[in-house]
Amino acid sequence: MDMDAPEILVAGGGIGGLAAALALSRQGARVELIEQAAAFAEVGAGIQIGPNVTRILRDWGLESDLCRVASFPHGLLARDARSGRELGHLPLGERAERLYGAPYACIHRADLHRLLLQAVQQRGVLMHLNQRLAQVQQGEGGALVRTEQGLERRPALLVGADGLWSRSRQALGLNEPPRFSGHLAYRGLVPLAQPLAEPQVTVWMGPRLHIVQYPVQTGRAMNVVAIVHGELPANPQDWDHAAHAAHLFQALGPISRPLQQVLEAVPNWRLWALSDRPPLRSAAQMGQRAVALLGDAAHPMRPYLAQGAGMAIEDAQVLAQCWAGPGSVAERVQRYADMRWPRNAQVQARAIRNGRIFHAHGPVSWGRNLAMGVLGAKVMDVPWLYRGIG
Ligand SMILES: Cc1cc2nc3c(=O)[nH]c(=O)nc-3n(C[C@H](O)[C@H](O)[C@H](O)COP(=O)(O)OP(=O)(O)OC[C@H]3O[C@@H](n4cnc5c(N)ncnc54)[C@H](O)[C@@H]3O)c2cc1C
Repeated sequence: MDMDAPEILVAGGGIGGLAAALALSRQGARVELIEQAAAFAEVGAGIQIGPNVTRILRDWGLESDLCRVASFPHGLLARDARSGRELGHLPLGERAERLYGAPYACIHRADLHRLLLQAVQQRGVLMHLNQRLAQVQQGEGGALVRTEQGLERRPALLVGADGLWSRSRQALGLNEPPRFSGHLAYRGLVPLAQPLAEPQVTVWMGPRLHIVQYPVQTGRAMNVVAIVHGELPANPQDWDHAAHAAHLFQALGPISRPLQQVLEAVPNWRLWALSDRPPLRSAAQMGQRAVALLGDAAHPMRPYLAQGAGMAIEDAQVLAQCWAGPGSVAERVQRYADMRWPRNAQVQARAIRNGRIFHAHGPVSWGRNLAMGVLGAKVMDVPWLYRGIG
């Protein structure tokens, strides 16, 4: 092996790529990372991270950093978007700690990205900005990787963490583009004068729509995401559009006064067209020989279980564990793919199902409301997910 070559090259410096670089370098691997952007700058707004994910961040020594930037909701409240009626409640806070051994957190994506970036930098991972992966060839001794800017590397392992429109996938013979879900996400942040006394995640559900709100930045801002059905915008790869509140209110139709007040408080809206891929069907879609896919590159999902970044972080943890284990590179990649694809497929499928439940109307919505009111936590909790990967 060429000793100047990195043992592992990570393509993509989003949350998944940084998590992979951190987890693998913590196992002693020599890691390099390429990112197409000219600077590390995470866009977007808030994300929720369940106990399955905060446990891993704790494992990586990031718990105190997380506490400095995240919010920790006491519960999840479901409400009817039209009437404002409370439909069901799932306690989080102390209950999540007790049942799942780690907290439920809400964090701004930029904060999580910064926290991972600092940890990766501290480990001395070599990072190349402005390098766009162009081509990957699987060979005997690893992968031959070229960027559009002319960088060439022959790592033993390429980790494809290059997101929804991944090029790394082509090295596994996967050439299908992602599919538009028919859903649009409007996102915004409302500054808060002081943290809420009872921070919580609120999900407002209505026919063909739902809205999620929760505090981020230790309660200094409220993240608001409104999902409606709509047409694919002109350029879906340019996923961050300025948006008009009037278009959102038109798509929502009649909504309750309290919800309207939440939405009217948002100073600026950004618009995302939500795309995903069908749930994974085999290990071969997650890794083969010298290429392992991770995060949205492998399994982009609808955000209705709030686990896209979470699954990327779980992928990173498992990949690092497999890398530290015995066997050839191909065997270790196979073990990773075998371990990850069923869980990722299950989360993708559950996210699609959640969308149908949240957006239901007529008798299905009556059944949903009844179940949440009577059974509460029993139907709203997701133990198989939050227990994590051990
Ligand atoms: C509305 C919405 C709400 C969400 N809410 C949640 C939530 O509550 N909880 C949660 O866990 N997840 C949530 N997600 C999902 C989550 O944001 C994503 O799953 C996660 O960010 C994926 O991370 P990634 O690193 O795999 O991909 P990305 O974040 O897309 O990162 C890919 C990186 O690779 C780089 N790249 C791309 N192509 C190349 C190339 N050819 N060469 C080099 N670099 C390249 C990109 O510039 C980027 O930096 C939400 C998503 C949306 C849209």
